[in-house]
Amino acid sequence: MKKLTIGDVTITSIIERDGPWRKPEEMFPAYNPEVGKRHLATLDAEVFDPASGKMVITYQTFVVRTPKHTILIDTCTGEDKGYPAPMDFPKKPWLDGFMAAGLRFEEIDYVFCTHLHIDHTGWNTMLRNGKWVPTFPKAKYIFHKGEYAAWEEEARKGGNRPGGGGNVWPYNCEPIVAAGQALLVDDDYQLDDTFWLTPTPGHSPCHCCVNIRSHGQHAVVVGDMMHHVLQCREPDWSTVFDWDPAQAARSRRKFLSEAAGSGRFVLPIHFPNPTTGLIEADGDRFHYKFVR
Ligand SMILES: [Zn+2]
Repeated sequence: MKKLTIGDVTITSIIERDGPWRKPEEMFPAYNPEVGKRHLATLDAEVFDPASGKMVITYQTFVVRTPKHTILIDTCTGEDKGYPAPMDFPKKPWLDGFMAAGLRFEEIDYVFCTHLHIDHTGWNTMLRNGKWVPTFPKAKYIFHKGEYAAWEEEARKGGNRPGGGGNVWPYNCEPIVAAGQALLVDDDYQLDDTFWLTPTPGHSPCHCCVNIRSHGQHAVVVGDMMHHVLQCREPDWSTVFDWDPAQAARSRRKFLSEAAGSGRFVLPIHFPNPTTGLIEADGDRFHYKFVR
């Protein structure tokens, strides 16, 4: 993404993977090819690859630097997890990106996870001597307590819901709590004047957006509240990965309505470069205007 500066805070990203990924008809059960085609023709070239018919989907971590803290928001898929294809893409780019950002693991103060899915918690932990340990030894990891409890329960039942089943919780989440580095928080959690949460449930049980405010400017990391710009044109198109698709659509429409025309910068994890955008209302739809 293009570096974003708001007040005395900067936001950059570390990209794990990028490029054409999924066809919209596979992603959105409500997809209507005619409507989709019409929208895609009007969207920015970065978001769709006509040759493959696939949407361009990026996996990235946001790095937020304030005068006081260095913070990561969402941590991609990580390494050594043994995930089957297509989630087995190379992991070196993320480590290279982390290093290129001039960061060291021990410099990270906080890690926010918007939700506890496979591609948002991966670098939370690393495998050391056969054990999953926190990657960032001095960081506090901020998880929503309801989100954590829901995936703990799924793991206990041996459930395999999209995004968070299987080894995601035992590899990426539980070891953080076991190490005493987790802050399990409520909907109204506020780290300080700069960071607070907005609950946007649906994609996952207690998905949250992370607000960042500095000197009167406001940015929001929206996690997976939307995966593609098409969902601004059609806010009711929830994905096959959503825990509760109807609730996800309500959360999305509410957020987009509030953000429209507000000047707040929106940072969806999966939107390709330049990633950051502003929302504009268009009747009961919305435009996503990339900040270039
Ligand atoms: Zn995701």
